[in-house]
Amino acid sequence: MSGREIMRSSVRHFQRYYSPKVGDALRLDTNTNVLGSHPAAVEALSSLGDLDFNNYPSTYSDGLREALAEKYGLSSEHFVVGSGSDESLDIICKCFLEVGDRVVLPYPSYSLYDFFVELNGGEVAMVDLDEDFQLDVEAMLAAGGKLIIMPTPNNPTGNSFREENIVEILERFPGIVVVDEAYGEYSGRSFLSRVDEFDNLVVIKTLSKAYALAGLRVGISASNVKLADMMSSVKIPYSLNILSERAAIAALRDDSFIEESVRMVDENRPLLAAGLEELGFQVYPSNANFLLARAPIPHTELIEGLRDKGILIRDFGARRRMENCVRATVGTPELNARLLGAIRELLEERA
Ligand code: PMP
Repeated sequence: MSGREIMRSSVRHFQRYYSPKVGDALRLDTNTNVLGSHPAAVEALSSLGDLDFNNYPSTYSDGLREALAEKYGLSSEHFVVGSGSDESLDIICKCFLEVGDRVVLPYPSYSLYDFFVELNGGEVAMVDLDEDFQLDVEAMLAAGGKLIIMPTPNNPTGNSFREENIVEILERFPGIVVVDEAYGEYSGRSFLSRVDEFDNLVVIKTLSKAYALAGLRVGISASNVKLADMMSSVKIPYSLNILSERAAIAALRDDSFIEESVRMVDENRPLLAAGLEELGFQVYPSNANFLLARAPIPHTELIEGLRDKGILIRDFGARRRMENCVRATVGTPELNARLLGAIRELLEERA
């Protein structure tokens, strides 16, 4: 069969996700933690003799949910965990969307939101952010719908949304509001402690970014207990494996690595921004561990030129509102010097 007719019609237009050839390139394209794996997780996985691989994990990862309850001062029943916050997004869409329901997303924002919404039969309504990449609250509320999903800090723009705007949406929107705090450790702000204040709030978090465990795929949602129970009832049982759960528990109990990681980004983000500006980039304000910047040369040339020099950054240059923009993870002083040096070389080679 040559065509895609065999596929479900609603997903026939889907394409594979970003999947670059990495080799030994320096990855500044996925906003992971440049300091490397969380040491407490590595330590926890260094002796596994007591683990029983023959038995299933706890169905709903009770151990991890208890560690979360302890860390955040809630009960384990407030949490649903799974394989990456991408699974959390999938669970939310599966749980709350009827086929044809509208989901309001800010634009620009995280591209996999559309994927999970459409995969689960929903229809996306994109509402443009304003010129400062802040939420247009009235336009979002006017779009109606069953679900609003937004990340703060936003990916790929990097800025946090205003707390009062999010609160206003929570108070006035009749459906579920998902606040995705994938980069929340870097902004130092969170709605997690407020999940019992709103009957429609779901906060999602990931251990893929500041926690430096992207390869272990751990995602978390927090909400009031009623919503968490609904979401648990549609999630794939056992989706978090026992190695990931053990590492996650150890990482959540050790704050010092997160503090060091956030400090490193706080110190080096302005330096990287200044370095990029000196090279002719227009850099957007960021509260996250990455910068969105408009390149002084065609974006495809920059991306390909850096790839040839062994550095991956992410291309957004063909998208509306981000014309000729790229996104780069903030590195250590050494990594930032390597990135800036490679860009300088490219500019010189072109001149
Ligand atoms: N939300 C946002 C805003 C993200 O940027 C990402 C990953 N890039 C995710 C969710 C998903 O992360 P993960 O599935 O690794 O938890």
